[in-house]
Amino acid sequence: MTASPLFYQAGPPMPEVSHGHGVFLWDIHGKEYLDGCSGAISCNLGHGRQDIRDAMLAQLDRVAFTYRTQFENAPAMALAQQLVEITEGDFEKIFFVSSGSEAVESALKLARQYVVARGESQRRHFVSLRPSYHGSTLGALGVTGYQPLEGPFTAITPGSIKVPGPDFYRQSDGDRDLHIQRVLDETRAAIDAAGGDTIIAIVLEPVGGASTGARLVDKSYLEGLRRLCDEIGCLLIFDEVLSGVGRTGSWFAYQQWGVTPDLLTTAKGLGAGYYPVGALLCREQIVATVMAGGGFQHGHTYAGNPLACATALATLRAIQHEGLLDNVRARGQQLQQGLQALQNRYPWIGDVRGLGLLWGVELVMDPVEKTPFPAEANLFARITALAKKEGLLIYPRRSLNGLAGDHFLVSPPFTISESETLLLLERLGIALS
Ligand code: PMP
Repeated sequence: MTASPLFYQAGPPMPEVSHGHGVFLWDIHGKEYLDGCSGAISCNLGHGRQDIRDAMLAQLDRVAFTYRTQFENAPAMALAQQLVEITEGDFEKIFFVSSGSEAVESALKLARQYVVARGESQRRHFVSLRPSYHGSTLGALGVTGYQPLEGPFTAITPGSIKVPGPDFYRQSDGDRDLHIQRVLDETRAAIDAAGGDTIIAIVLEPVGGASTGARLVDKSYLEGLRRLCDEIGCLLIFDEVLSGVGRTGSWFAYQQWGVTPDLLTTAKGLGAGYYPVGALLCREQIVATVMAGGGFQHGHTYAGNPLACATALATLRAIQHEGLLDNVRARGQQLQQGLQALQNRYPWIGDVRGLGLLWGVELVMDPVEKTPFPAEANLFARITALAKKEGLLIYPRRSLNGLAGDHFLVSPPFTISESETLLLLERLGIALS
């Protein structure tokens, strides 16, 4: 057999997929896998959906692609309107893209063009958190604080001022308010050192995703950042590429804290795994300023094409019509209880945290000292392989150079039933044992 010309990252050999239905996938040898992480936290409605297929086929029969400078298209207009409605007036303007990285790039570039159009071209720094993940293109990687991926690129990315985010498991000593104050003070000090009038925006995930294993922030932290941004005149950008479109039990996670950013990115679940589509949600005044300054100098070929937008519309319709946000919250509670029961059984499960159907499990060698396993143990890869052997897919991340232990995300499709959640926990329990 000749070697495949395909290449991605290094990793173990993978089985070839055959088909999927609901929360399950099968490989070509007939083995069944429960999709406990919705692919890459993107297949939020599960696999093999007739309604999404029908919506896509109906659009394909009309037209698949038109270019944004040549035609308006009804699905794009309707999708933009829907995004405005589900964010209840927080954003008035929508810019479409095809991926999370593109959404973040667009946010960074729009923010920079905004400050330049305002006559503040000395603003040239972004502030972001360590750890964090914002994408793999060079701009998005520049604001990413995740050592294993930054690798050789720090020398050539625009970079950002990295500050710690809240870490209630490792850093807070139980006093959450004090911890938040300390983190905000550190952020303030880093900004003061660079000069508040050099900052374009603070960028963060309101619920940590892959890089932190679903670390949560809280309302007072977000309120503190909002105040800081307003005071120094910079923008606040929330990256909800992963946490958006229902994953945390509300349309967007920020809505649960009532702190509204100036720009918000989303992607992954917007196309539910059926077609790549992402969006940048913006406050009108920012877009108006950029437009008055000559327009937004940015765009991607496939942005806002009819097929992508028809797929996303069908996704939002399914979430609405099937009351899936309620199911996300109910199954999320069930998952939380099940994961905490596993934590009680296995002391090396140091922390279980999350929201809705986004749960992070952090593994430590010593639960009292919270010592991470050594990186060479490759625990994250071993746990993933063991779960896969048991017929369960989870989303792993390695230990963060002592900053945190290995962790994995459990984030099944919104459609998961009570009995399927039990099965997920049962397979995870076997893998962990
Ligand atoms: N931001 C966040 C918070 C993400 O989780 C991801 C993807 N894991 C991205 C940006 C990048 O998205 P994509 O892989 O679609 O480019």
